Amino acid sequence: MSNDLKGKVNRLGIMGGTFDPIHYGHLVAAEMARGEFNLSKVLFIPSGTPPHKVNRDVSAANLRYEMVELAIQDNPAFDLSALEIERIGLSYTVETLRVLRRAWPEYELYFITGTDALLEIFSWRDAEEILTMIQFIGAARPGFDASDFLLKVQQEHPETQGRIHYLEVPALAISSTDIRARVRNGQPIRYLLPELVRLFLQKHGLYTAE
Ligand code: NAP
Repeated sequence: MSNDLKGKVNRLGIMGGTFDPIHYGHLVAAEMARGEFNLSKVLFIPSGTPPHKVNRDVSAANLRYEMVELAIQDNPAFDLSALEIERIGLSYTVETLRVLRRAWPEYELYFITGTDALLEIFSWRDAEEILTMIQFIGAARPGFDASDFLLKVQQEHPETQGRIHYLEVPALAISSTDIRARVRNGQPIRYLLPELVRLFLQKHGLYTAE
């Protein structure tokens, strides 16, 4: 990011994800984005019913919400919103952003999510409108080739020039899918996610069955 942008505007990070479960990769990504893009705050928004996962088992929204609450409690720059889990129906990002746009009119909004999720952005409901409202920060796992991704997006959608950013996050070698598989197979997950979250999912018997 160029230095001339720093400090001139208020910026809010919006951390969207299913968080099933939240882990250190997500937390490091949010904190790195906060530092790199000079965000005043990062608001975590667990998806209620993700539109692309209607045929897949996703843990109950209230449990995913509680795990995020436990995970972020020691960072004063992190906050949590129940906007999507309280809304009836599928969790379309555009609807969330319309609400946030109204609630934070003086802020620039940065939507932080996984780069693989961002690759699908143009299939999201009202994608063009989304891109006028906010900028994106794609948090990438190590080894993800961002140059290809950015080139393709800019070629196919020149209007997104300068509005989609990329952040390599080595800690994203941790993944929710892997954690769920580990629990199912009785393998250790300690140190992949906050201890309070590990104890929570143990208490609720999450991910033990297929
Ligand atoms: P996903 O398909 O579960 O995740 C795609 C990849 O991104 C996974 O590798 C995931 O890793 C990673 N990821 C997800 N959220 C992340 C985050 N905040 N920071 C870093 N990495 C992250 O994606 P999802 O979590 O369900 O959806 C991501 C966001 O896009 C959500 O806010 C969702 O509502 C939105 N979305 C909207 C639409 C729509 O409006 N039509 C459609 C799809 C997605 P982990 O598995 O380790 O998290």
